[in-house]
Amino acid sequence: MKLKDKVAFITGAASGIGREIAVVFAREGAHVVIADLNKEAADATAAEIGKDGPKAIGVAVDVTSEEQVNAAVQTAVDTFGGIDILISNAGIQIVHPLEDFPFSEWKKLLAIHLDGAFLTTRACLKHMYASGRGGSVIYMGSVHSKEASMLKAPYVAAKHGLIGLAKVVAKEGAAHNVRANVICPGFVRTPLVEKQIPEQAKTLGITEQQVIKDVMLKETVDGEFTTTDDVAQVALLFASFPSNALTGQSLVVSHGWFMQ
Ligand code: NAD
Repeated sequence: MKLKDKVAFITGAASGIGREIAVVFAREGAHVVIADLNKEAADATAAEIGKDGPKAIGVAVDVTSEEQVNAAVQTAVDTFGGIDILISNAGIQIVHPLEDFPFSEWKKLLAIHLDGAFLTTRACLKHMYASGRGGSVIYMGSVHSKEASMLKAPYVAAKHGLIGLAKVVAKEGAAHNVRANVICPGFVRTPLVEKQIPEQAKTLGITEQQVIKDVMLKETVDGEFTTTDDVAQVALLFASFPSNALTGQSLVVSHGWFMQ
């Protein structure tokens, strides 16, 4: 087991990519905190994961709320005795052309992706520093941390911003053996993406199959979606890597959509 008795605080873990990371980490021996806006789904996920192995708990949190984030991290520490891994993963998508982008929606998206990353990082770092055990901070970026797409201005800006944040955490955290890295997935068929397929078909006046083939997967080497397990395996690599040799990095997992 690569994460035996480690404690992982995972935001947005009641669905999609975050949920799969929680499942894989629990299988590797970690205690997992399913921190999500959707408390019912978080509890259900925790119950499912916890039934045959290490413990899991669900906590309700809106990652844009300083108070709620601090309280959720404290609950995790009170339950499991510390935090070793933060996966800052909660996210949404909103698309509009720039000239029509409502300011309120721009701010909402940035708050979830960037304020959420900052608030959870700050709350977890204190415990990682105090424990003397160090830790691993992992941000859920995207190919959109490296590339742009039309209609996704705040998403692309936020995902690029996470790389900057990770580099600062890598520098400040090194003395405490805290590492920080970013995972940059291509399209993964989660509820976040399922919602976009009919929306884009309508906007672009093409079929849903064409959206998948000619828009989402067009630049991949093999026309395949990235899977939640692909992303979870990269998270496992970052979380279990034993030294500061691997820090301040961003790794793209996208079937070759983006190549560095
Ligand atoms: P998802 O919609 O399946 O899950 C997102 C989860 O985040 C949900 O459980 C939701 O309740 C939670 N959430 C939303 N707002 C929140 C808030 N304010 N506070 C706490 N929790 C909140 O989405 P997903 O596809 O699994 O996306 C997870 C992350 O992966 C996001 O950051 C997304 O940008 C990123 N990502 C996804 C893809 C993809 O193709 N699916 C690709 C690259 C990156």
